[in-house]
Amino acid sequence: NLRGEQIASVGSQAMHDSVWLKLAHRINELAKRSDVDGIVITHGTDTEGETGYFLQLTVKTTKPVVLVGAMRSATALSADGPLNLYNGIVVAANKTSADRGVLVAMNDYIYSARDVTKTNTTNVSTFQAPNTGPLGVVMDGKVEYYHRIIRKHTHETVFDVTGVNSLPKVDILYGYANTNPVLVDALVKDRVAGIVIAGVGNGNLYPTVEAKVKQITRQGIMVVRSNRTGSGRVLLNAETDDSALGTIAADDLNPQKARILLQLALLKTKDPKQIQQMFFEY
Ligand code: GLU
Repeated sequence: NLRGEQIASVGSQAMHDSVWLKLAHRINELAKRSDVDGIVITHGTDTEGETGYFLQLTVKTTKPVVLVGAMRSATALSADGPLNLYNGIVVAANKTSADRGVLVAMNDYIYSARDVTKTNTTNVSTFQAPNTGPLGVVMDGKVEYYHRIIRKHTHETVFDVTGVNSLPKVDILYGYANTNPVLVDALVKDRVAGIVIAGVGNGNLYPTVEAKVKQITRQGIMVVRSNRTGSGRVLLNAETDDSALGTIAADDLNPQKARILLQLALLKTKDPKQIQQMFFEY
């Protein structure tokens, strides 16, 4: 039996924390009910991976929670939305989908919401998990899994957003040759609790940005080093000396996912060592 409801109606480029919280609260309510076996969320593709990771960390259930979207409009030739939606329902209804964390079903593949990201502006194969690949496939009404998520998810996390109505302010700063260090000042002036830097290569920082980062971590602003390459890990204390800078390495989370983990981590602690540990656990 299928039942539908509308949580929000926005293009996903307009996604914001309050919709994430509303969605997590509602899923947590629904998942407790004995007449609900699984939940499918239709979502714009622009930020689908981010919403998925937020839910991966905040919904408390082993029941399948699956996000779906469409790259082509409903009136396009070979529109992909109807099949993605059907596949999402097939995945959510399948018993083997239980306790795999939040899933994203796109283009016949099933991905972990932790690992999946939009990699192409327009192509139907845009959703990829560059570091890990998909967990399984869904086609012809059948589901087959090949992998399992190892990182802690859903009911295994420490993040509980019950009663939480806003999230700490965390922004992303893009790294590039000649990065303008004034961007760091602007974020500090805007009273951010944390900054994620999409660093170059192994999450490296431009020297003048690095100098500012060393100052602001001493003022209690959390700085996480992610990277702009699109794949791979940012290693702790490798080319960049995190111990000297007071920075946190994002491991293999891209900047937008690192931002979500940092927002949730800041609800629990302001200790960079504990937050670093979370980046290795989630
Ligand atoms: N940009 C819009 C969104 O992400 C529509 C495009 C789409 O759904 O792929 O909501």
